[in-house]
Amino acid sequence: MSDSTVHPEGGSQTVAATAQLTGILRRVASLGDILERSVGDATHPLKIQLERFDSPVHAVIDGRPTTLFGTNSYLGLNFDPRCIAAAETALKTWGTGSTASRVASGNQAGHAELERTIAAYYGRPDAIVFSTGFMANLGSIGGLAAEGDLILYDAFCHASIIDACRASGATFKSFRHNDPADLDRMLSEATVPPSRTLVVLEGLYSVWGDLGAVKDLATVAKKHGALVLVDEAHGLGLYGPTGRGVTEAQGAEHLVDAVVGTFSKSVGVIGGYCVTSHPALKALRFLARSYLYTASLPPAVVASARTAIGIIASEPERRADLWRKAERFCAGVEALGYSMCAAPGPVGAIKMRGLVQGLGFWRELLERGIYVNILVPPATPSGEVLLRYSVSAAHTDADIDLFLGVLSDLSQMSQTA
Ligand code: PMP
Repeated sequence: MSDSTVHPEGGSQTVAATAQLTGILRRVASLGDILERSVGDATHPLKIQLERFDSPVHAVIDGRPTTLFGTNSYLGLNFDPRCIAAAETALKTWGTGSTASRVASGNQAGHAELERTIAAYYGRPDAIVFSTGFMANLGSIGGLAAEGDLILYDAFCHASIIDACRASGATFKSFRHNDPADLDRMLSEATVPPSRTLVVLEGLYSVWGDLGAVKDLATVAKKHGALVLVDEAHGLGLYGPTGRGVTEAQGAEHLVDAVVGTFSKSVGVIGGYCVTSHPALKALRFLARSYLYTASLPPAVVASARTAIGIIASEPERRADLWRKAERFCAGVEALGYSMCAAPGPVGAIKMRGLVQGLGFWRELLERGIYVNILVPPATPSGEVLLRYSVSAAHTDADIDLFLGVLSDLSQMSQTA
């Protein structure tokens, strides 16, 4: 590959370099050219670099102090002194990495202790820890379902769930988002027996910030005798009396066979898990390829995850504080006339008119010291351009006032479609 292809210096040079390529390299380079042209030279999300962190939600970007409303640190635990101290101790005692998979030498006491902590937190007998939430879905769904089985998943489910369905070898189809009648119809019409059917949904959908109809959907699945798996990646720490997620908040845990979660959001590190009451699911440890064939989590991550889960379980006041701030923020946004995708909550999205207006609005916010996520198709459920925000317990009231003040200044640009 020529150097000009690897390090394109400008649009026309890139296109010229692409024209000399063939086959796979040409296809990939053309896609790169299209993406480069569509974002132009101006700032875009992939260019953003956080130069320094002053708190879970305060950073320096491009030399400018910036308040972050686009992280998944919903409870601010990535900077909690107890989590940091646990990580430091583990780092000094156990070293920097596990250097192997759980089935080789990567099964340390800390991993087993973390699994016991998670199982006890959910009041279930077993939990399996994976190295990311993505891998937890790949391993749990791909470990459970196989050729000849059927997976029915909510149409708004995350990419990791869809990739897991593909990897499983099972037949898979989506039902309409949060539509129990559609799920009922699909289960009634299925030719695969219900005992060989897995229904997959999420607790909190992270793009719009709307809740899964977990109880209603799981009730339908159970009526037919299907298994239910709920991904609580974003709901953990935010919903339910003990923070176990939307499934807990809706009183639906008894209807759910397995819960998948991640440590990369409220928990503040990286990793994922699957927790279950079925003894049969012990076999997941031998079946889940993303458990068997990848290195286990580093000891410092394991220690801080365990500490953070203890905090989530025992400090409901953090959740209450987050909700107070989220409700105040959402009330302010609605009062300014912005169009939100879902009911008020710590995670949500403001509708933009299209890519050009959305990117312009996102850049204006950034220049005024506010960072949010811009989401564009195919990452959005119905092809909209959205500004996704997340409120954190680590935000101060002044941070929220600052964001609302900027939104007020920019309200002229925010005419919704
Ligand atoms: N499930 C859902 C619903 C997610 O939103 C995400 C990531 N945003 C994942 C799984 C993957 O989690 P992780 O980042 O820990 O791999």
